[in-house]
Amino acid sequence: MNITVIGTGYVGLVSGVCYAELGNRVICVDKDAGKIAALQAGSIPIYEPGLQEVAAANAAAGRLSFTTGLAEAVRESDIVIIAVGTPPMPSGEANMAYIDQAALEVAEAMNGYKIIAVKSTVPVGTNERLRELIGSRTDERFDSISLPEFLREGSAVQDTMYPDRIVIGADNREAAATMTELHKPLTDNIIVTDIRSAEMIKYASNAFLATKISFINEIANICEKVGADVTRVAEGMGYDKRIGKSFLKAGIGYGGSCFPKDTRALIQIAGNVDYEFKLLRSVVEVNQDQRFNVIRKLEAIFSGQLRGKTIAVWGLAFKPDTDDVRDSPALEIIQYLVEAGVKVRAYDPIATSNFQAVYGKEGVVWCGGAMEAAKGADALCLLTEWDEFAQVDLQELQNTMWRAILIDGRNVFKEEDLLGTAFIYYSVGRPA
Ligand code: NAD
Repeated sequence: MNITVIGTGYVGLVSGVCYAELGNRVICVDKDAGKIAALQAGSIPIYEPGLQEVAAANAAAGRLSFTTGLAEAVRESDIVIIAVGTPPMPSGEANMAYIDQAALEVAEAMNGYKIIAVKSTVPVGTNERLRELIGSRTDERFDSISLPEFLREGSAVQDTMYPDRIVIGADNREAAATMTELHKPLTDNIIVTDIRSAEMIKYASNAFLATKISFINEIANICEKVGADVTRVAEGMGYDKRIGKSFLKAGIGYGGSCFPKDTRALIQIAGNVDYEFKLLRSVVEVNQDQRFNVIRKLEAIFSGQLRGKTIAVWGLAFKPDTDDVRDSPALEIIQYLVEAGVKVRAYDPIATSNFQAVYGKEGVVWCGGAMEAAKGADALCLLTEWDEFAQVDLQELQNTMWRAILIDGRNVFKEEDLLGTAFIYYSVGRPA
């Protein structure tokens, strides 16, 4: 099939590359000329394991190309997939400006029947609204499809090539059949629904996962007070098939470009139809507070005297294996520490420059390695569970630090790892 994917971010680029890998001819479009120039030169602007190799192979095979020329790409395609950003507005509602802009540009470029699918996460009713918007600008026939995306950053290629399910929201049987055909090589679990249900599946899925995280974090907070170990509790719960093992890892809460934004958007979507989503409101509140778990522990350790202390921070990305720092807990934690007069020494394997672009470069000592960050520190806070942190020599770490105090915000270390060291160790939901 001939496919145009609009937006070459985490979703659009990975999807485009993977559709090409399936043998389709894919044109990836972005309005960011710098990104497109980099992609044309064979350089991938985001960090995503495996993406570089699959992109290079498909570009070399002539199935994958990159352009800023949206109109021309649309004219050469039967299927147009919109994967632009839908960032949150201050109200929590998703900003539809990029989607509307892309839809209008597609409408202007129409030269015959096309399927126009939206992969971006959009509020219920958006695809119907876009259909009217596009229809008002073109006489050509087209069908609207909701095609929500469930990939996870850090394993996006794997998730796209081996998805748990594909959801296709359609009100035209032929268009649904074409989209089913396109995705058939990926999975047998293809769910075709009406458009509004497909839009809702995306929000409901993310809200449910966020709920699991906030739930286990609250259990962790109680475990700390009653002397239980949340990792054992989660293990014991997870064997129950009705509960499942995933997303029961206590920590400092979720971040990233999806859960925070999509939970707030769903609260707003519910609010727009006079429904107060009380449960989800609490999920968001718990998550926001959980970030300060690390700070509360530091305050307790230093009896509220943080000023002048040197604190090392390991991990700036919102989760491992990604360079994405959008809504990363590290942003608020570091800001709090700096404002409290702490000397912060920070390190992340790959997300430092993205972090600096959002946070700024001032007020933090940026380090090129984990040990360098820990040098002379009064305490170390581990905020992202990168593999390399789990591999460190704890004896060497202890000798590098001024005081061997470790606050493990992601429960990376086990009790036996610390045996023989002098670390004072705090984690989440486990005995200190
Ligand atoms: P992103 O910000 O990384 O990328 C969006 C891209 O779209 C940018 O490169 C931007 O330049 C481009 N763009 C914007 N308007 C354009 C236009 N008119 N023409 C061409 N290009 C345009 O966003 P993302 O993280 O890939 O997310 C995209 C959508 O997918 C969002 O709705 C998000 O909620 C959803 N989603 C994201 C993830 C994730 O893990 N990132 C997972 C599932 C769903």
